[in-house]
Amino acid sequence: MRTAVGLVICLLLAGLPTAAAQYDPTRTHAWPGEPIDNHVHLTWASLTLDVNNWAEDHPDVVSLTSAGTSTLGKTLWVVRLSDWSMETKPNGSAKEIVYIDGGHHGNEYLGTALAYLTAKTYINGWTAGDEAIVETLQNTELHILIMLNPDGNDIDTRWNINQVDLNRNYDHYWNTCPTTQPGSSAFSESETASNSAYMNTHVTDADLYVTMHTGVWIMLYPWGKWPEQPPDWELFHFIRDDVHEQVSPIPIQNANQGLYPNCGTSRDYGYGVMGFPTFTFETDDEQFVPGSFEALEDRLGEEMDVMHYLIENVWFWRARLSVDALEVSEDRITATVHNLGHASTANATLQHLDEEGNVRWTSPLFNVNATNSTTLSFDANPTWIDPDGHWNLNYQKRVINAATWVNETVEDDLVVLVESEEAGLLLGTGLFHPMTSLLGMVLIGWGRGRRQDATV
Ligand SMILES: [Zn+2]
Repeated sequence: MRTAVGLVICLLLAGLPTAAAQYDPTRTHAWPGEPIDNHVHLTWASLTLDVNNWAEDHPDVVSLTSAGTSTLGKTLWVVRLSDWSMETKPNGSAKEIVYIDGGHHGNEYLGTALAYLTAKTYINGWTAGDEAIVETLQNTELHILIMLNPDGNDIDTRWNINQVDLNRNYDHYWNTCPTTQPGSSAFSESETASNSAYMNTHVTDADLYVTMHTGVWIMLYPWGKWPEQPPDWELFHFIRDDVHEQVSPIPIQNANQGLYPNCGTSRDYGYGVMGFPTFTFETDDEQFVPGSFEALEDRLGEEMDVMHYLIENVWFWRARLSVDALEVSEDRITATVHNLGHASTANATLQHLDEEGNVRWTSPLFNVNATNSTTLSFDANPTWIDPDGHWNLNYQKRVINAATWVNETVEDDLVVLVESEEAGLLLGTGLFHPMTSLLGMVLIGWGRGRRQDATV
């Protein structure tokens, strides 16, 4: 009888929420899935259930799509997260784009878990009204392909069902390093072909690509192919130093040096062909133990801090040239160009166009280093200056040739035409108000960085 009463009390108590056990919508709780061997394994079937529930429950922020199918026909789900009530940022400019994938290797559970947790964290944060996350989703699109290799995942193997190492199957110096099982040709596999098709169709201008794996706790930037630093080394070194200072001591290295030479990887393809700033994020290899499930955000808390840092500061991961002042006198053009981003740019030009849009003059090429201010001075000839014309700035987002080009019009208010009695040029004055707004964005960006620092 006493046992029975005790049991009833236990059952009653179990039904009562305690402070610690209360449902917290910002928490993800345990990594979903089935215990297999000594870890918990997320099957493609449970992932399919989850992502469809997310899309159904949160249509304002989750848009579910597919990048294609695996060899065995399983859907490669892509969870797209943003404030879908707005096509652009609140200020009317295009949202930044972040591309994330996980699960190239079917037995690297924590890498897949980190992709899953990234999606879930932003959904939960949006639902809970977390200010930083809401602001990020108003300004950013996250495209997350959580499980690239569902066939390999479901039978707990590194390879896909054709015994190919998907992360050696990309069309960037394919099969030019000592490797095993890179496939019969670049993109011979449905999974990698689908991933590259998604990159080339939906996220061509991505400002960040993170591909998630498990092994040694490290973040790797390009190249895997070469020991040399990549052209955008300044960007990668800035991120390395800033992460170390603000977020985590996780090692961050060139993949070739930090790991071993590897070719045909999605990381080198993402950077070398697509022009994305790219990281392979390797979590450590200690798996969950069944029966002692840690909440995912505790197990991968530090890794998520790094992801927040990379995502929330994404605006800075390219060159952001700003013409602070442009002075045109009778025989000289002087421009002060500031780089608000952390990537260098090369082959930049300044152009003058007449009122009809015909190019009247193009400057010689110039470079601007990361976080640098450059004063340029060019010979001018007043005969080609159209007082009703305008000025254009053309440059690449990053140094690498694959990086897309940016073509921006210099705000008229920044252009000062210095009066000349002989030439009779108009005198203009600059109020610099576009610069004021740009500075505002920089300050907001740094503010976000600082806030994050405080929580680490
Ligand atoms: Zn891997």
